[in-house]
Amino acid sequence: MTEIWFTEKQTDHYGITMKLKETYVREQTDFQDLAMVETEEWGTMLLLDGMVMTTDRDEFVYHEMVAHPALFTHPNPEHVLVVGGGDGGVIREILKHPKVKRAVLVDIDGKVIEYSKRYLPQIASGLDDPRVQVIVNDGFMHIHDHKNTYDVIMVDSTEPVGPAVQLFTRGFYQGIYDALKEEGMFVAQTDNPWFKADLIRSVSRDVKAVFPIVRTYWANVPTYPSGLWTFTLGSKKYDPLDVDESSIPEIDTKYYSPRLHKAAFVLPKFVEDLVK
Ligand code: SAM
Repeated sequence: MTEIWFTEKQTDHYGITMKLKETYVREQTDFQDLAMVETEEWGTMLLLDGMVMTTDRDEFVYHEMVAHPALFTHPNPEHVLVVGGGDGGVIREILKHPKVKRAVLVDIDGKVIEYSKRYLPQIASGLDDPRVQVIVNDGFMHIHDHKNTYDVIMVDSTEPVGPAVQLFTRGFYQGIYDALKEEGMFVAQTDNPWFKADLIRSVSRDVKAVFPIVRTYWANVPTYPSGLWTFTLGSKKYDPLDVDESSIPEIDTKYYSPRLHKAAFVLPKFVEDLVK
């Protein structure tokens, strides 16, 4: 039988490759090329425009690390917004925080939400929770229409191509600043330092132009190019490095822990140099 392998090309000479078992969906939505496939190694996988968004087996790393560092830094994260994140993984993690009263998810593509509920139910499990409001809209528009509204905003977007290009601009970070309450903070996924060094450098510079406290941290996500993934946090008041780790409760996680909270902000030297 013919073997089918998928490769996410990162450069002309390097990519992430995995063997496929089955394709459930391949559809051109109004915004992107969406595929839901079954892999031998990583379980069910969501692809957008040929890029790995999430897989059943390693999704916990990314989703926990988007959600928990900020939520355990802000003392009272009652109202939380996720921009993107239509697979629901970040929402599932947010709902583990007892102080969260309302979590709003704004993804531009309703098809991502629909197919994630069908094929990635353990990731999308929180989307029907009564504390969650799901909105299909452009995140850029949403933040501009909601000033002084959220305690924490999480940007779980695709890489800066197609509809996500504007989510990596200084104007967007200013919009986020305005959509946050007085003591608010935000976090965004900011790709990998091996091949997207310029992006990490420019995001860090742009977020520093808007927020007084800016921190970069990382996690190991094996199905993302290079495996070394960064996140950039901008905060109006609270610094994740000031958190007393002994005050962080143990919650049901597989990657994040109170011990990891500050450790994740210790960067390899070449990454530290990017965000100086
Ligand atoms: N974890 C992934 C990664 O880094 O590879 C990204 C997750 S995926 C669910 C990102 C989502 O961002 C997609 O569902 C996409 O539709 C959404 N998105 C892209 N641009 C957007 C925009 N302008 N407003 C809201 N959602 C957007």
